[in-house]
Amino acid sequence: MSGFDTIVMVDWSAGKRAPVRPSKDAIWIGICRNGMSEDPLYMRNRIDAESWLAQCIEDEQNAGRRVLIGFDFPFGYPAGFTRKITGRDDPFAFWSLLESQIEDSVEGTNNRFDVAETMNAFFDGPGPFWGKSHKDLWPGIPYVKKGIAYSDFAERRACDLKAKASSSCFQLYYNPTVGSQVLMGIPVLERLRRTPGVAVWPFQPWRKAPVVLAEIWPGVIEPAVKQATGDDIRDRVQVRLMAQALGALAPDRLAAMLDNTGPEAAAEAWILGAGHGDELVAAAVPPLRNDCFALPPGVHWTPTAEALALLETRLTPVTGTETLPLAEALGRIAAQDATARRANPPLPNTAVDGYGFAGGRPAGTHALTLAQGRAAAGDAPGVLPKDHALRVLTGAALPQGVDTVVLQEDVTRDGGSIRFAGPVKTGANTRQAGEDIKEGQITLEAGRRITAADLALLSATGTADVVVRQPLRVGVLSTGDELVDAGIPASPGQIYDANRPMLLGLVKQFGHTVVDLGRAPDDRTALRAIFDDAVPSVDLILTSGGASAGDEDHVSALLNEAGAMALWRIAIKPGRPLALGMWQGVPVFGLPGNPVAAMVCTLIFARPAMSLLAGAGWQTPQGFVVPAAFSKTKKAGRREYLRARLREGAAEVFASEGSGRISGLSWAEGLVELSEPAQDIRHGDPVRFIPFGSFCV
Ligand code: AMP
Ligand code: MG
Repeated sequence: MSGFDTIVMVDWSAGKRAPVRPSKDAIWIGICRNGMSEDPLYMRNRIDAESWLAQCIEDEQNAGRRVLIGFDFPFGYPAGFTRKITGRDDPFAFWSLLESQIEDSVEGTNNRFDVAETMNAFFDGPGPFWGKSHKDLWPGIPYVKKGIAYSDFAERRACDLKAKASSSCFQLYYNPTVGSQVLMGIPVLERLRRTPGVAVWPFQPWRKAPVVLAEIWPGVIEPAVKQATGDDIRDRVQVRLMAQALGALAPDRLAAMLDNTGPEAAAEAWILGAGHGDELVAAAVPPLRNDCFALPPGVHWTPTAEALALLETRLTPVTGTETLPLAEALGRIAAQDATARRANPPLPNTAVDGYGFAGGRPAGTHALTLAQGRAAAGDAPGVLPKDHALRVLTGAALPQGVDTVVLQEDVTRDGGSIRFAGPVKTGANTRQAGEDIKEGQITLEAGRRITAADLALLSATGTADVVVRQPLRVGVLSTGDELVDAGIPASPGQIYDANRPMLLGLVKQFGHTVVDLGRAPDDRTALRAIFDDAVPSVDLILTSGGASAGDEDHVSALLNEAGAMALWRIAIKPGRPLALGMWQGVPVFGLPGNPVAAMVCTLIFARPAMSLLAGAGWQTPQGFVVPAAFSKTKKAGRREYLRARLREGAAEVFASEGSGRISGLSWAEGLVELSEPAQDIRHGDPVRFIPFGSFCV
C-alpha cells in the first residue's frame, strides 16, 4: 500500500526536554509499516529524535524498504522572505544557513530567539518574527504582533491558506505557534537530507527516492483525531492516525497528493494532503464502511452460513500493532510472520549420553581408542582425532570428526578404549543441524494467537520480540428498564442482569480487552449518550436486549436513526433478530436479550467477527461427531443449537429448550448443532457436538 513500506510521522517540539513519563508537547513519532500502524514512540528531546531518525533512515534503506518521513512544521517561509536573508530563493540556502546558526542541547536549551533577532535585523520596522518567552529580552523581537506590516511578503504561505492552518511561521511563542518549531526543526532536516538516498518533497524529485521527507500538518485529519483521542495524549493520537492514514492510501492516491501542490511550493514548500482532508480522515479511521452490515434486498430469513459468510467478507482488522518482548506476548495475536534467526538445533548434537566417533559400523565387535576429555552441552565443538571415540553427553554439539554416537549402555569401557557391538548406522543417536527448523523458516504466522509452545519455538530460534496486534477493545452493555445488578434489592418486576457478566466473561475468554459499559434504560437519549462516550475507547460494542423491532427496542431504533443498521433475521434457534450497525465508525452487535439466545449468538456470530476485527482471522469452532444420547424431532428451516454435554462418549441435551433457562447454559459444556433440514434424531444417531472450549481459541 501507499508506495512506501514504512511511514514515519513526527510531531516536532521546540520545547525544553520533556519529562520521563510520556506527556504532551514532547516529540512523538508515529510509525506504520506495511499498512499497519504501531505504537508511537516518545522522544524526550530533539537530539534523541534526530539520532533515531538517522538510524531509521539507515536501517530501512539497508533493508531495501522505502520510507516517507513527515514533520509537522513548515519546510519553508512565504515567498520572498528567504531572499531577504540569503539573497536567493533557494530554500536550501536558508536551511543551510539556519543549520550553521542554531544551537541545541540535550536539555533543550537553545539560541532560537537570538537567531530570530538577527534575522529581524534584515528588515526595516518591527518583525517579521514576533513573540518571545521573556518580555525584556531580545529587544529586536516584538513581544506582540501589533504594528508588524507584512508588506514585502505574506504572513502565511499559500499552503497554510489552502489547509486552513491558522498559525504563522513568524510567530515564535504563544499557542498556536509553529515559528519556533521551524527554527529548531530545519537544522535537523538539513542534516538528514545530506544522507544519500534522501529527497525533500516538494523541492526535489521524490518519485524514485528511497527516503522522502515531507511536511505534514495533523490539522488535516482533525475529525479523526477528535473521535479517537479520549483519554489518550493528543500528539500520540495525531502521529498514529497520520501514519495510519498515509499508510493505508493506495500508491496512486498518495502520489496524487504529492503531485497536488500550488505553484508556490517550489519556494514555500507545501503541506502533504492539504485539500485532501476527507480522504485522509477516511483512511485514518477504522477501515469499516458504514454500510458494512447491509443485507441483500428481498431476503426474508438469512441462512446461518450465509450470515457468517457476509460477516467474514465485510469485516477487516481494526487494531494497530506494537512490539512486545516474548515475556509479554502470550495470548496476543501475531501481526506479522516471525522467522527463525537461527536454526534449531543450531549445530549437529548428540541425542543421548554415549560415545561419539566417525562413520557407522557393520555387525561384529568394534574397539576404539578413547580421546581425552569429553563434550557436554554448551561446550564449543572441538576436533576428534581419526579412529578415536569421545565421551559425549546429551545436547553436546558434535566435535569435528564425530557424526555417530553409540549409547553408553551399549559400550564396555576398558581403560583407554571402548568396545561395542555393531551394527551402528552412520548418524545414529545424533540430531542434524536445522532438522527441526532451518534459519529463515517461519516460526509464527501472522494472525496466530501466541501459545506457550510458540514462545518456546520463538525463543529457541532466537526471536526476542514479536510484533503483535493491539488488543481489541470490546464494550459490553445491557439494555432494559427491568434490569438491576445483583447485590441490589430488586423491586417486583425487576430482574437481575445476567447477560453483562456472561458477555464480559466470554469476551475475556476470547482474549480481548473488555470495557464494561454498564446498563442502559429503555431510553434512546441515554443510550445515545452511552454510545457517544464509548466510541473513543472501544473497537466494538456488544449490546444485549432491545434489538428487535418492537416499541421498546431502542438499540435497533437508534442504530436505524444513524442510518447504518440492518436487522439480520437469521434462520437460527435460539435467536431473535440481530441488530448490526455502525456508530461513528464503531461496529455495534445488538444481541437478543434472552440469555440463551445472547450466548448462542455471541458464540456463533460475534466471536468469529471479533476474531477477524482483532487480526486473528475468521475462526470456525472445532466440532466432533458423536452419538446422540437423546431423541428429538426437528422441523425444517432453522439451524438449531441445543445446550449439551458429553457423557460416556454421547451427547446429552438439556431437558428444556426455553430461551430464558440460564441454568441450562451453566449445565451445558457445549452445543449440539443441528443443520437446517427436518430431522428425526434417535438415540445413537450421529450429531455434531461443539465443546465450549472450541470457542475459546
Ligand atoms: P429484549 O430483547 O430486550 O426484548 O429482551 C428479551 C428478554 O430477555 C426479556 O425477557 C428480558 O427481560 C430479557 N433480558 C434482556 N436483557 C437481559 C439481561 N441483561 N439479563 C437477563 N435477562 C435479560
Ligand atoms: Mg428489553
